[in-house]
Amino acid sequence: MNTAYIYLQLYRLFDDVTPLPVDCGKLCNKACCKGDDSGMFLFPGEKAVFNLLKPDWVRIEKTDFTYEYNGKTYNTPIAMCSGECDRYQRPFACRIFPLTPYLDEKGKLQVIIDPRAKGICPPAKAFFVDDFEPVFVKNVEKTFKLLLKNKQFYAFLKEYSKYLDEFKRFYD
Ligand code: SF4
Ligand code: SF4
Repeated sequence: MNTAYIYLQLYRLFDDVTPLPVDCGKLCNKACCKGDDSGMFLFPGEKAVFNLLKPDWVRIEKTDFTYEYNGKTYNTPIAMCSGECDRYQRPFACRIFPLTPYLDEKGKLQVIIDPRAKGICPPAKAFFVDDFEPVFVKNVEKTFKLLLKNKQFYAFLKEYSKYLDEFKRFYD
């Protein structure tokens, strides 16, 4: 599967669609782009985009976050930046921030406010999901419904949701 091609198509849904109809970076002085070694996880197969485009503003590193699929253990890479990027090449997690996909206890997709965002992002702290731009929320849902058709992606998201649960305990 040409995952770079799939992600590049999905990226386009967020080229001009943003969480709010205003430049929210002005609210918080771009708190989510501080380049302070926090980084953004890449979703399964997304690394292929960076292997293809080879942008010079990002470093891809390994993390300890793993998931099992088909008897194999997969390591999740993280994209580290210095707080500047090419908007049209930025990772998916940056495009959907401060929302994130989440599998509930029945294994059903939910789009939630990323609990990790609540400490840094004013709208993440104050808003409900429905308060964000409807097209933005719809595009996040559309994207992950599609990606979840892939069984490996589902395995990743199951583990990732458990990881988010650790943060939800503090912020919900
Ligand atoms: S931290 Fe939140 S409000 Fe600030 S730029 Fe990022 S998404 Fe927008
Ligand atoms: S890649 Fe771009 S959008 Fe993502 S955190 Fe870095 S500067 Fe912000």
